[in-house]
Amino acid sequence: MTAAALALLLLLPAQEPPALEGCKRCDHRGVRDCERHPDLLRELDGTVILRDSLAARCPDCGGSLLVDCPKCDGGPESARREARRAELQAWLRIPHRVEQILGRPLHRIETPRFRLIVDVESLRAGRRKVEGPLFACVLARDLEATAQRLDADFGFAPEDYRSPMRMYFWGRREDHALVMEKFLFSSKTGDFKFLGKDPLFSVWTADPTFGNEAGAIHSLAVHNAPHMLISNAVFEQWFGDMGAGWLDAGPAHYYEELLFGRSVNYCVDETYEIPNWKDGIWRAALRRRLEREDAALLPALLRKQTGELRDDEHALCWSLFDWLAHEHPEVLRPFVEGAKRRKPARELFREGLGLDVAGAEEAWRAWVAESYPRKEPRRRSFGPPVPWD
Ligand SMILES: [Zn+2]
Ligand SMILES: [Zn+2]
Ligand SMILES: [Zn+2]
Repeated sequence: MTAAALALLLLLPAQEPPALEGCKRCDHRGVRDCERHPDLLRELDGTVILRDSLAARCPDCGGSLLVDCPKCDGGPESARREARRAELQAWLRIPHRVEQILGRPLHRIETPRFRLIVDVESLRAGRRKVEGPLFACVLARDLEATAQRLDADFGFAPEDYRSPMRMYFWGRREDHALVMEKFLFSSKTGDFKFLGKDPLFSVWTADPTFGNEAGAIHSLAVHNAPHMLISNAVFEQWFGDMGAGWLDAGPAHYYEELLFGRSVNYCVDETYEIPNWKDGIWRAALRRRLEREDAALLPALLRKQTGELRDDEHALCWSLFDWLAHEHPEVLRPFVEGAKRRKPARELFREGLGLDVAGAEEAWRAWVAESYPRKEPRRRSFGPPVPWD
């Protein structure tokens, strides 16, 4: 063989088996959709839901959501099915601490920013029953959408977060209690969260406050995501107890309202009465209040801790943040960074907007008068579309 011929031979690609083409029965894919999973999981798979332990344990598809076509030897999607299955099986073999503590497999979902455990058999939506696994997909979708929106508003990038947000939903009180004890060193029932470093939220869904209602748990989760994300972003520091309660509570209500059309979740220390200012529908009510009341509201509001805010003050925090998010989004990130360094609000407003507190109050009040309706429009339903409606 001449040197030229050898060179030519080396350039030729290694011989590959002929490409599989599938058949008519599988639309020339070589695979079919595994029928054991909700359509929503298929929609979210790979982009929003990166890994799903319940699907990964599926005896038919191993989490690939695809099964081999029974009528042919395979097709263009067969290799992807196999690779995805292998990836998920390897992931499933990694021991998970909460599963070890409880001694059983759990439904775990990983999204870009969240690590969810949804150990709930079913919830209620009025008279309808909502299966836990489907509810978990909806949670993943709306938590991730909320985080994306928050990132866009604050100018946060994935690398601004120090850890994923862990959110756990338990159908059984004992499991919530055990996780609380092991991770949060608390014996509180209801819901509880740990913010700042390695944020963790845990809730017993059948707690009387939530009554296993899908809608209540759905909005509770979305409300808590901003608390967690903001506490973890840039550097790990929760400032809700450092005199910047308004900048902790405001965004939580804002993103809840953005998705649900109202805000009904309050982070308060245990009380006998569940707060619910104006049923969570705030624009017209706030506009009327501000028209009635001339006395400055911000000086007192901007100094409070999250836990000290009254129910009507939660609405004021929401509105103040609503104004900033619409009119001055460029200050959101510097405000968060400043609050984490214990900078008082008057300095944040002066540096960010060139306004003293009185000037900020005036600008905010003017925006409310211009932007909020006098009367709330009638609404039939609240919340994003869900598969059980
Ligand atoms: Zn086929
Ligand atoms: Zn399957
Ligand atoms: Zn809150």
